[in-house]
Formats: sequence, structure tokens, C-alpha cells
Amino acid sequence: MSIKGKGKDGSGVSKLAPRPARSKATKSKSKSKVKGIKGSRATKATKVRHKTAEEMGYYRCVSCNTRVLPGKEEGCRILYKDRHLILCPKCKPNWTFYCGRGYLRMKDYQKVWDKQAKLTETVISLVGKSYVVDEIKFPLWAQGAGGGFLSFDIAVPIYNLLIDYHGEQHYKTNTKWNRSKASLAKQQTNDMLKYTLAPANGWTYMVFHYLEPIDNIEYVRHRIEGVLMTSGLEGGS
Ligand SMILES: [Zn+2]
Repeated sequence: MSIKGKGKDGSGVSKLAPRPARSKATKSKSKSKVKGIKGSRATKATKVRHKTAEEMGYYRCVSCNTRVLPGKEEGCRILYKDRHLILCPKCKPNWTFYCGRGYLRMKDYQKVWDKQAKLTETVISLVGKSYVVDEIKFPLWAQGAGGGFLSFDIAVPIYNLLIDYHGEQHYKTNTKWNRSKASLAKQQTNDMLKYTLAPANGWTYMVFHYLEPIDNIEYVRHRIEGVLMTSGLEGGS
């Protein structure tokens, strides 16, 4: 009898059928989510609308976000795609700008953050020192909700991969860095922004949580490979 086959086919079909309705729901959901985040217009367009120095009356150092007043910016400019990026005199010696990919990186690996430095070390042992960058900033699109430029902890530009290490301050208050609910909320808004801004600009973004064994090379390899594979499959969506 043919019941056996019918039953199996039937379940297969019903699994596929509800998909269109589901995708509609996700669309409207993501729309409302975007509305809630201040300044996240960048999700659709790939660029953040930056205020010009004229509108603000001053420049902001792309690195430390301190004000640089007009007239004081001589020798601090980097001209990039009709925009003047300003690095204050204090920061300028420490950063290099890569025009081709549009990012700023620190000249030397930073060692201020213990855990981040450890993860950098692990990633270096996986892909080689010349392929790993840390403290990377994208002045054309990675701007935080408060206006400052977001930086990513580690990058592997040949894989278009950005990696952040999230210490406890990304999840809890009463840490050294986030003492209040407001500063935690600001932190988390910027964390969320990265998940939309990075893919919208062609970079895969991933986060290592503070409980993950970041000095375990095999573990880190599996995590990175997994994320790269998934982002490859879902690249269009
Ligand atoms: Zn500066």
C-alpha cells in the first residue's frame, strides 16, 4: 500500500510550507529592533551619518574621542574619501591608517587588557602574526550610539573577521568598568550595534565570552571555523 510513502512525504511538505509566513515575521521583528537602537540607521545603508566638524564646531579624535578644536587639527588630519579624520597629537604616533580597507589599527599590539592580549596570542598562533591586527577601528561606519568610534579587539582581515573579547563588564554592573545600570545599557547598545554594523559592511563579527577557554588553541580554532562557515552560508541574508 502507498500509505507509508504518503505519510512521510506529507510531513516533509508540511515542514516546508510555513516558511514564507515565518520570514515575514522575522522581517518586521528586526525592523522594530532596529528602531529601538539610537543611531542604528546604518543597518540598511552601510554608512553611518556623521556630523561634520562644522556642524559640531570641533573635531573628535578617532582614537580617544577627545575634542580637537578647529585650527588645532593641523598635522592631525588623514584625508579619506572627502572626509577629514582627525587623530589628536597624542594618538597619532600610535596608529596606522589602511586606506584600502578603510581601517585604523594600532602600530603595536596592545597589552593593556590581559585577556584580550591572550586571545590575540591564540589567534596569532592559529593564522600567523602578519595576519592579525588588534584594536581596529572603522571610522566610516563603526560609530557607537554615543558618537564615539567603536573599536574591535582583534581582526583577521584576510578572512574579513572581527573578534571581540567580552569580559564581565559586558554582562554585569558593579564591575570595575560598569558600575551603573546606565553604563551597562550603553555598553550593551554598542555591543548590539556591532552585530549589525559589521555584517552590513562585509565583516564577520564574533564574540568570545569571558568563561570560554581563550588560551586553548583547538577550542578557539573550532569556534572561529564554526562562525566563518555559518557566516559563509548565510552571507546573503
Ligand atoms: Zn586621541
